[in-house]
Amino acid sequence: MKILVTGGAGYIGSHTLVELIDAGYEVVAVDNLCNSQKHSLKRVEKITHGNIAFYQIDIRDKEALTQVFKHHKIDAVMHFAGLKAVDKSVQKPIEYYDNNIGGTLALVEVMQNFNCKILVFSSSATVYGDAHKMPIREDFPLSATNPYGYSKLMIEQLLQDVFQAGGGWSIAKLRYFNPIGAHKSGTIGEHPNGIPNNLMPHILRVAMGELDKLNIFGGDYNTPDGTAIRDYIHVVDLAKGHIQALHALIDKPQIITANLGTGNGYSVLDMVMAFEKASGKPVPYQITHRRKGDIAICYADPSYAYKKLNWKAKHGLKDMCQDAWRWQVKNPDGYLC
Ligand code: NAD
Ligand code: UDP
Repeated sequence: MKILVTGGAGYIGSHTLVELIDAGYEVVAVDNLCNSQKHSLKRVEKITHGNIAFYQIDIRDKEALTQVFKHHKIDAVMHFAGLKAVDKSVQKPIEYYDNNIGGTLALVEVMQNFNCKILVFSSSATVYGDAHKMPIREDFPLSATNPYGYSKLMIEQLLQDVFQAGGGWSIAKLRYFNPIGAHKSGTIGEHPNGIPNNLMPHILRVAMGELDKLNIFGGDYNTPDGTAIRDYIHVVDLAKGHIQALHALIDKPQIITANLGTGNGYSVLDMVMAFEKASGKPVPYQITHRRKGDIAICYADPSYAYKKLNWKAKHGLKDMCQDAWRWQVKNPDGYLC
């Protein structure tokens, strides 16, 4: 079977390509490289000894996408392409809606034209807004506080409607919690263009000596140590969840909405300590004001994914930190070296 991976050069897409190739699928990747480098795909080929047919296109370009579908008989799509920076989405809402929603619309239209109806979509725990109960189950109320979150909510609705309209679609909406870590080989990892906002890339920069200290956003949350709690999940576990979802969708047409998290919540200080232990490097920090829009606690109930997809996360915090550190040390300049 041939799988099209949109956003394949990106962080989660590249790790999922490894799992797809290892599972015996043929793969085609498309990416406009707005937040990635195509060397990541060469690295995936190196790890897997596989081949990736790559097209540098924007998925909003229906004609270009159509050409890809004409050249390859695509059986299913994994759709990672999207913009993901919350703060930028607030500054540039039109760009975010255009890219995320426009891209998905173009994709499903072209898929429909080619009678390709199996789709795995990257959603996010952000669709739960500030959930007032933990752990978060899939049937909790949905909300958003920024254009990025709204774009994920709108796409989820769009896909629900496409499924409901009939015609044999089979769709998985996978709600990721906080992906971190890297492939064990240290060959691929997270390397966005520009400075990322997320915790782990900042910890890595401090450990490398590129930043003096980590700013911890908020020490006065209602949590045991006062810092915010998240559900960090190893990117390879996340990637494997996609393979399981794909199997379920191939098995029978259906719509699946599943959390991909570990079910464990760790605070920012837990993360700093775990990283220091795993890497042997100190991570000096200072506690500063809360980051606007951040919530105190967010972790998954992953039991539905286990029941439905026979999937659960296997890696612990130590693996996540060690693997992220290995990637960083082997590739101080990411894919640019
Ligand atoms: P990423 O930025 O590394 O990967 C996304 C890729 O999509 C990039 O390579 C980018 O160049 C490409 N892209 C963006 N717009 C495109 C377009 N219009 N046409 C073609 N390519 C385009 O991000 P990631 O962390 O790998 O995230 C993948 C998906 O998972 C995104 O949709 C993101 O919203 C979602 N997600 C990520 C996280 C996270 O913390 N990383 C959490 C929840 C959900
Ligand atoms: N965080 C922090 N310092 C940073 C980056 C993040 O204290 O430099 C905190 C952030 O406030 C949140 C947690 O780390 O509580 C995870 O943030 P991230 O941006 O990685 O993911 P989010 O859950 O916000 O999507």
